[in-house]
Amino acid sequence: MPIIAIVGAGFGGLRAARALSHAPARVILIDRNNYHLFQPLLYQVATAGLSPDEIAHPVRAILRNQHNLEFRLAEVTRVDLAARQLTLSTGSLDYDYLILAVGGATNYFGLDSVSKTALALKDVDDAVAIRNHLLRMFELAAQEPDPDTRRALLTFVVVGGGPTGVESAGAISELIRLVLTKDYRSLNFKEARVILLEATDKLLAAYPEPLREAAAETLWSKKIEVRFMAAVTDFDGSRVALKGGEVIPSRTLIWAAGIKAAPLVDTLGVKQARLGRVIVSPSLQLPDHPEAFVIGDAAYLESGGQPLPLVAPVAIQQAETAAENIKRLIVGQPLIEFVYKDPGSLATIGRNAAVAQFGKLQFHGFIAWVMWLAVHIYQIIGFRNRLVVLINWAWDYLFYDRAVRLISSE
Ligand SMILES: Cc1cc2nc3c(=O)[nH]c(=O)nc-3n(C[C@H](O)[C@H](O)[C@H](O)COP(=O)(O)OP(=O)(O)OC[C@H]3O[C@@H](n4cnc5c(N)ncnc54)[C@H](O)[C@@H]3O)c2cc1C
Repeated sequence: MPIIAIVGAGFGGLRAARALSHAPARVILIDRNNYHLFQPLLYQVATAGLSPDEIAHPVRAILRNQHNLEFRLAEVTRVDLAARQLTLSTGSLDYDYLILAVGGATNYFGLDSVSKTALALKDVDDAVAIRNHLLRMFELAAQEPDPDTRRALLTFVVVGGGPTGVESAGAISELIRLVLTKDYRSLNFKEARVILLEATDKLLAAYPEPLREAAAETLWSKKIEVRFMAAVTDFDGSRVALKGGEVIPSRTLIWAAGIKAAPLVDTLGVKQARLGRVIVSPSLQLPDHPEAFVIGDAAYLESGGQPLPLVAPVAIQQAETAAENIKRLIVGQPLIEFVYKDPGSLATIGRNAAVAQFGKLQFHGFIAWVMWLAVHIYQIIGFRNRLVVLINWAWDYLFYDRAVRLISSE
């Protein structure tokens, strides 16, 4: 039986594993975490709306009925394409076919100081660290007699006007205005600020202009200060420096400004494009290694002259194509090329507000928010999680609450 190694149990890797359930092969899925993470809702963990187990599910539980599959909890540290061997933190693994679905890592665009002091939002630990930090700022502010220090503690800067930045800023603003105002009665909430910094002149750049404008208006209506052409140059933990010299006193910088391919692909020694993404053929193979496939955020392929976006539907659809092509390679059939079918995009800006685009159809406001709710509930892994998330959201909506206001660790 040939061995198909899949690195990464994210959106791409998990779907590839499922698509290979009837393949005449041993499928070995490796991830450094024992869970699949639903990244689109990470910001809700960061803002005390959901707890980590509501958006993450053990890989072994998801795939327990797949008899040709083994899961290995390990970090892959090296891929030897010539020897067809992976080096794992727990040993090594020889493979016949490989799917690399390692996703992305936070991109600080070379800003070393920022990478050490800012809060990223890429995995569960990041989200819990943000939640702890946000709540701790309020605890410190409640005991701080100096008004300047207190204002800095209560100034929350989010960097990046893409969906993650917009969603995070919206959720932080609502956490403060709708929930924490009730918990910290001694604080003057006029001192609290949420600032969203965007280095270009556009929010949600992938969306059409009317939706971008609607998003900006909604953010302002939720008391978020949106600043365009505002590029961060430094953050020392208490002052955010912007290009042009302006300094914003703040203890919080949430970095939602970019993603690059996961560092493992840098060890492949193959051609990489922007953001370190590995250039793959239309059949998703590495040019000189037809047995090796790269999919999702780590892969670079163009569609209509543009790079495919770093979104879950690309990873999921590419997983289907890569799995199909491996099955075809095993039986010696011609391969198929990847064609992306854009299912549309959605971003929420907090309570009752979202933007949505499906082909030529555009929606914003309450109707888009209901669509966002329905799509995310449907997509959350595992029935129990769906129910728990739905109950939590309903509770928060009705009672202006956030269930998980715990400072769990430093
Ligand atoms: C905060 C946030 C919000 C997002 N919101 C949306 C959204 O609303 N809609 C949308 O479509 N997309 C969204 N995305 C993007 C989407 O999550 C990614 O495009 C998608 O996850 C890419 O899938 P992937 O399989 O390539 O990688 P991932 O899903 O990131 O999976 C990669 C997996 O590889 C594992 N891994 C990495 N390196 C190693 C290694 N060396 N050894 C072992 N395991 C390794 C990781 O642990 C991870 O499980 C969001 C991303 C983030 C961070």
